[in-house]
Amino acid sequence: MNANKKIDINEEELKKKLTPEQYHILREKGTEAPFTSKILDVKGKGMFACAVCGNQLFSSNTKFDSGTGWPSFDQAIPGSVEMHDDGTHGMARTEVTCAKCGSHLGHVFNDGPATTGKRFCINGACLIMNKE
Ligand SMILES: [Zn+2]
Repeated sequence: MNANKKIDINEEELKKKLTPEQYHILREKGTEAPFTSKILDVKGKGMFACAVCGNQLFSSNTKFDSGTGWPSFDQAIPGSVEMHDDGTHGMARTEVTCAKCGSHLGHVFNDGPATTGKRFCINGACLIMNKE
């Protein structure tokens, strides 16, 4: 991790900006309940940005219905996210965080259906959609 490129986050200010659920997921590595995100069924083209810092993370072109109940993408915008080995909960997973602010977004798996073979399983609460 390169600490220099990370932005400073005032956690108290952030708590006022985000809902308690968003704060828990993004800053305390929580997970939203499946099938609860409005972003799951969102239609139309646009970009999905980090709810904390506005960093553009995913394009609607890469979004697909994985059936898992979480918004899923087959690739991230290059350089927008970082991956970390995550051995919590007794599973070997790869955590995905925002490359700009370090906030937790979700996990990435290697069983994606598209040519990338990736399935970014992202909490919708972490994303803000900017429609085109
Ligand atoms: Zn961010």
